[in-house]
Amino acid sequence: MEAGEIAARFDAVIQRVQAAARRCGRRPDSVRLVAASKMQPSEAVRAAYRAGARDFGENYVQEALGKMAQLADLTDIRWHLIGHLQTNKAKQAVDAFYLIQSVDSVRLAAAIAKARPERKMPVLIEVNLGGEATKSGAAPDSLERLIDAVRERVDVRGLMAIPPPGRGTEDSRPYFVQLRELRDRLAAAAGLGLSELSMGMSDDFEAAIEEGATIVRVGRAIFGERTR
Ligand SMILES: *Cc1c(COP(=O)(O)O)cnc(C)c1O
Repeated sequence: MEAGEIAARFDAVIQRVQAAARRCGRRPDSVRLVAASKMQPSEAVRAAYRAGARDFGENYVQEALGKMAQLADLTDIRWHLIGHLQTNKAKQAVDAFYLIQSVDSVRLAAAIAKARPERKMPVLIEVNLGGEATKSGAAPDSLERLIDAVRERVDVRGLMAIPPPGRGTEDSRPYFVQLRELRDRLAAAAGLGLSELSMGMSDDFEAAIEEGATIVRVGRAIFGERTR
């Protein structure tokens, strides 16, 4: 997609994010828009950056490292890892990313901590809300034990989820409510802030904001359909 069109679409999404926040009495700057740039070329990332985007979400470490090298001049970009992380890529990931949103096992948290012993890596715990066998993410009933086991090793900032595919906003809303309630319960039980709720994508980010999202991850609404 052409740079001007990406800029216009990014602007439109930012407006919708801020309007959704205001509608439910939240401050517009309480929601962070992460541009999900998987399978988009670095020029598309640069176009969104020029339009004001600073947070970008990537799914694959290798693909992300390539773009980071091409965009090394944009020193204030914050890269979020939103895809599954293999333990053997933990070192590359902690060096390159600002926030790893996809921690779903003690084993992965341990690999991340080992790769960065000097300072706890900021992470979110990915939750598999729909119980889908094909999806990564920890089961809701395992979260308390998981967080307890990893909190000394990584900096657990909150939860992330990708609801099962639906037909639009209202299909996702019950999952957003569920994630927020899980967070509230876990935060109370663990005595942790867990202030971040990463939920909502192109088709449903406004509902996610209404239900408490602090991070939305939006790809197609900014960059257009992904092409292989
Ligand atoms: C691709 C992706 C998104 C963005 O999805 P869109 O439908 O393109 O907005 C968000 N989160 C994750 C984890 C993704 O893989």
